[in-house]
Amino acid sequence: MSAMRLPWRDISASGHYVQFYESDAFLLDALGGYISAGLDAGDACVVISTEAHWKGLQTWLKANGSKLRDLQARADCLWLDAEEILAKVMIAGLPDAGRFAEIVGGIIGQAAKRRPHVRAFGEMVALLWQQGNQAAAIRLEELWNELSERTQAFSLLCAYSMRDFAGEVYGTLFVEICGRHSHVFPDENYITLTSDDERLRVVTLLQQKAASLDAEIAERKAVEERLRLIAAGDDQKRLEERKNAFISMASHELKTPVTSLKGFTQILQRRLKSQADSQTLLFLDRMDAQLDKLTHLIGDLLDVAKMQTGTVTYLESEVDLDELVREIVENVQATVTTHQIRVKGETRARVRGDRDRLGQVLVNLLTNAVKYSPVSNTVVVRLSADREWAEVAVQDFGIGIVEEHHEHIFERFYQVSDQQESTYPGLGIGLYIARTLVERQGGRLWLESRKDAGSTFHVMLPRLSREQNARDAADVCNVRNVREAGAHDEAKK
Ligand code: ADP
Repeated sequence: MSAMRLPWRDISASGHYVQFYESDAFLLDALGGYISAGLDAGDACVVISTEAHWKGLQTWLKANGSKLRDLQARADCLWLDAEEILAKVMIAGLPDAGRFAEIVGGIIGQAAKRRPHVRAFGEMVALLWQQGNQAAAIRLEELWNELSERTQAFSLLCAYSMRDFAGEVYGTLFVEICGRHSHVFPDENYITLTSDDERLRVVTLLQQKAASLDAEIAERKAVEERLRLIAAGDDQKRLEERKNAFISMASHELKTPVTSLKGFTQILQRRLKSQADSQTLLFLDRMDAQLDKLTHLIGDLLDVAKMQTGTVTYLESEVDLDELVREIVENVQATVTTHQIRVKGETRARVRGDRDRLGQVLVNLLTNAVKYSPVSNTVVVRLSADREWAEVAVQDFGIGIVEEHHEHIFERFYQVSDQQESTYPGLGIGLYIARTLVERQGGRLWLESRKDAGSTFHVMLPRLSREQNARDAADVCNVRNVREAGAHDEAKK
């Protein structure tokens, strides 16, 4: 191979060289040049290489007319099997500094006793690199450098196959390896060029290649990221579906035994009433109330699952909002002894929606208002309306909510968690259900709240269309006219 001759004759006495190569023939050419120049100069040479490269070196030396005919017979050039030395130097995947100094330092020291200067070729680093133990290779390069600094100077040549650097991951590591050497020699693609013009062309080409590879890598990374997101999205979706299926199945499974417990409780209640066993009846009432809570929770869980799959059924009708609010407040008040629920104002509005579902929203807001205001005794429900909207606002004077949680509390399974909050039971689904239901009816649910200053939850619902209201107003008017006319007639009588 007609390589550009590297200046092996004039190398520095303590230089640490690295030769990159594509083919073994090129490596042997470089190694042969390095060793034969050393032998010519009367240096002691130490070759720590694979057996194949040692044999290749001998062949090269013979073919290139080296004055050294039988290397093994000459003490000037010592060969050591790189794998064997490596096995002795390594501990737990890394080269051990003490063993390296003792074994490799010893070999170099012996050689230095015979000749004023030593040339070494070391292939252990390349073996480690090939094995994928890059950290060990870099550490070994450092140990070589330390040895050279600490003991007598010697020149050292290392060689790495470029194939072992193919891949983007090696970008930084390649720079690391170069940084551990005093001189870097590129592979034959560059060194075999004979004129400066050729080299400049090759450098330009390499620059262009590097730029387009960089662009390709950036593009590939972007594609990988997109694929990762899609895969993650799919995983997320599958997980969501399974979670929903689980919630739905678990709630159905729970519902059946709770319903039959409820039935048996009622039978027992009837029997005990007739026997006038008031003590046992009291326990039974408590049991019944707990069963109601459980039924409510199961219902909520079922709703969550249905909302996720869009399978909630709504029975739409015209609803008199004030009447509904009064009814729900009465029902909740019947179960609450700690708070007085006051209704202020009226909407005089009719809305279109599922009456039970709207009632469910109000129950939810009222029970939360009671639950989260343990040291107050009032909850206020304010009713108001304008031409298009009717509003129900539920105000409590309780623990309040820090602003950063305001939107999150409408998310599924979200509960405000701080030291105070962790004492409140719940699943964090009531408000999610409430908002979903209100929005399904074309309305809005939001809150105003500050920590320790109570909360007001606003439900705004579109009132029935103006034409409808006008019709309603006309009906009322007619009724009044009829009544007034009747009264008039009565008066006339
Ligand atoms: P749950 O009450 O079952 O935890 P909700 O969905 O009804 O679930 O409420 C979500 C969270 O919002 C609650 O855990 C609580 O932290 C907060 N929250 C709801 N209503 C109030 C309120 N009136 N005052 C203070 N915090 C509230």
